[in-house]
Amino acid sequence: MNILDIIAKKRDKQELTKAEIEFFVNGYTKDEIADYQAAALIMAIYLNGMTDQEITDLTLAMAYSGEVLDLSVLGSNVVDKHSTGGVGDKITLILMPIVAALDIPVAKMSGRGLGFTGGTADKLESIPGYNVDISVEEFMDNVEDIGISIMTQTLNLAPADKKIYALRDTISCVESIPLIASSIMSKKIASGANKIVLEVTVGNGAFMKTLEQAKQLCNTMISIGKLAKKEVVCVLTNMEEPIGYSVGNSLEVIEAVESLKGNIKDDVLQIVLELGAQMIKLAGRGEDIDTNKKKILEVINNGKAYDKFLELVENQGGDIEYLKDLEKIGTAKYITPVIAKKTGNVRRMKTEKIGQISCELGAGRVKKEDKIDNQVGIIIIKKVGDKVQEGETLAFVHANSKMGAKKATEDLYECYEIVTQKVEKPKTILEIINK
Ligand code: URA
Repeated sequence: MNILDIIAKKRDKQELTKAEIEFFVNGYTKDEIADYQAAALIMAIYLNGMTDQEITDLTLAMAYSGEVLDLSVLGSNVVDKHSTGGVGDKITLILMPIVAALDIPVAKMSGRGLGFTGGTADKLESIPGYNVDISVEEFMDNVEDIGISIMTQTLNLAPADKKIYALRDTISCVESIPLIASSIMSKKIASGANKIVLEVTVGNGAFMKTLEQAKQLCNTMISIGKLAKKEVVCVLTNMEEPIGYSVGNSLEVIEAVESLKGNIKDDVLQIVLELGAQMIKLAGRGEDIDTNKKKILEVINNGKAYDKFLELVENQGGDIEYLKDLEKIGTAKYITPVIAKKTGNVRRMKTEKIGQISCELGAGRVKKEDKIDNQVGIIIIKKVGDKVQEGETLAFVHANSKMGAKKATEDLYECYEIVTQKVEKPKTILEIINK
């Protein structure tokens, strides 16, 4: 078998066999297949798609490219959560401490930024000292000791996904159902949970632009889950605007801390309540979704969720003084307002573009080896359905270069469509799919 024939087969729209998929995944993981060859195959998959059988074979090959954790020591129902990615999606930072504060173990493997979307691992790393690159042993010990750990993919867990994920990001091959489904489900299989809640974002700031595509992705991931004996619930959420009010690594950490203290934006709260209630149910800790939502509000209001976040950060080497006094996190050098040039209502936000602007400011990567600028990003003041007066501030750009600030401010203005007609506030939770 050789990689050139496999690339040619997919290029010519033929179905790959299990053996061919395993040959590629194992060879690329061991650096026996070059990046440019992997890039060619990934692009061919992106363009020509995969059958359900190929997606399953790819997922399992990626999941078993490294160690597969056994989390049964944590109980018979171990729940995990993953998002398909979005702009301003800091939900993991808020939700996981909440779930842990309810005594449900959290062993979460999170990714880095991908394309125009941010990554939880990058956000956590913006907290001075926080170590996302811990060993699997440390990860497991943390969960046993304090009930929560959030790490990034180590070399041991789904290493094939780690390599393919980083490669896709740099060759514009992110928005693909086979590649997203296999990426997410391989990580979830490798990281050992048997119950999974997936936040599937939909809209112009998500990889799935339409409800139809998103449902297709959900069905694919639920089917893979069934084969791998994992119960999967998908919550479809609106990504026609950024989630919450911040985009960028430190800015999102600040919003997460504020949210855990109870100063939480309505859309963030709705997502946290829905995903959290589903997680509690899957954990076997409460059948009734509304009662579960009340439990979540309780640990936000009594401070237990915030305390759990501090415990998580401290336990992984982070300096919690930065979280206790958010001023210490500091700001970017240039903070410039984006001013409305007319009065009306916000009808549309170009959310993907907002994510791209944040990346261009330095919050994301263009090349695999790029370093992230933690402080830069965007604070969103006006969102879809909001009234705007001429001269009011729509958003603020946080930049570390004057030129960057100027360009981002101009570009961000173009992301707002303001009309005279009244505009309804969008729904945040679009649908829940579990079979
Ligand atoms: N999240 C992942 O883990 N992988 C993807 O491909 C997209 C979002």
